[in-house]
Amino acid sequence: MKISEIMKKRMSFSFEVFPPKTDQPMEPLLDTLEHLYTFRPDFISCTYGAGGTNAGRNIEVCKAIKESGKATPVTHFTCIGNKKENIKKSLQTYLDMGVDHILALRGDFPKGWEGTRGDFNYANELVTFIKENFPEFCIAVAGNPEKHFQAASFEEDIVHLRVKQDSGADYIMTQLCHDVEQYEWWAEKIRKAGISLPIDVGVMPVLSKDPIIRMTVSNGSAIPRELAEIIGRYSDNPEDFKKAGKEYTVKQIYKFINAGINGLHIYSLNKWKDITDILNDAGILNSNK
Ligand code: FAD
Repeated sequence: MKISEIMKKRMSFSFEVFPPKTDQPMEPLLDTLEHLYTFRPDFISCTYGAGGTNAGRNIEVCKAIKESGKATPVTHFTCIGNKKENIKKSLQTYLDMGVDHILALRGDFPKGWEGTRGDFNYANELVTFIKENFPEFCIAVAGNPEKHFQAASFEEDIVHLRVKQDSGADYIMTQLCHDVEQYEWWAEKIRKAGISLPIDVGVMPVLSKDPIIRMTVSNGSAIPRELAEIIGRYSDNPEDFKKAGKEYTVKQIYKFINAGINGLHIYSLNKWKDITDILNDAGILNSNK
């Protein structure tokens, strides 16, 4: 069943992983996947590097998930440096492997670029192209509860999200957002704008100080006071930081589930041990429990 159909019936549950660098072995990620499968996720999404830098590894990861038969693979895909002919070839490769779920993104511009240097400038154009040429795909698109950092206003950003729905997107996957009240405000605002797609909320685990600050701020997202306090209090003690961060993440999961989300998507950061602790503490049990 398509993920968007599952989300119309119940809350979906999923993970994001990223492929190893080109010169790194695949085995550690395959081991991580085995542990993530024990949670019986509906899907596991795999990121796609800027400019398609690790496109080959992304395909390998999607193939491994598909062949496991234990979760639906969802590939991320961007417009960066991608011309129509290459996009067609890539999408056919995914379909030939049985990968028919895609997160259609514009992508972030690599350093020094001012545009995508591909045939599409925005994600909605990629959605239209996929819909026209490969209607088999179930298409997710990105949503930004705190506004995309390049958008001039929430209103403008929401109009662009609406265009992605009208182009044929099937569900929304959100950018990390630690502020649940802000998420609720945004969800209501997009519903009022006629956006009815199921919303899959991405939760970023708080595990270490510098990465969480970097990932949050680089997306234009805010650090709420409770998280700022953890950063301040435990900044010199990585172990205590991780302990407090995990507790914070468990609370975030509860709050988002209470907010009535259609899907819970955990950015696994390829760290299955910490993820297992967090999910078990949140009452989400794996088959090893
Ligand atoms: P778009 O929807 O195209 O929006 C980009 C900006 O342009 C926004 O400000 C929007 O308001 C504006 N806009 C949109 N459409 C139009 C239009 N028609 N006319 C004028 N303005 C418009 N990046 C990667 O490189 N690889 C990944 O694997 C990856 N995974 C991600 C996973 C998730 C869940 C999310 C939320 C993001 C991910 N990203 C990834 C980051 C993403 O590529 C960036 O956020 C990027 O800056 C915007 O992508 P988008 O698809 O939201 O773009």
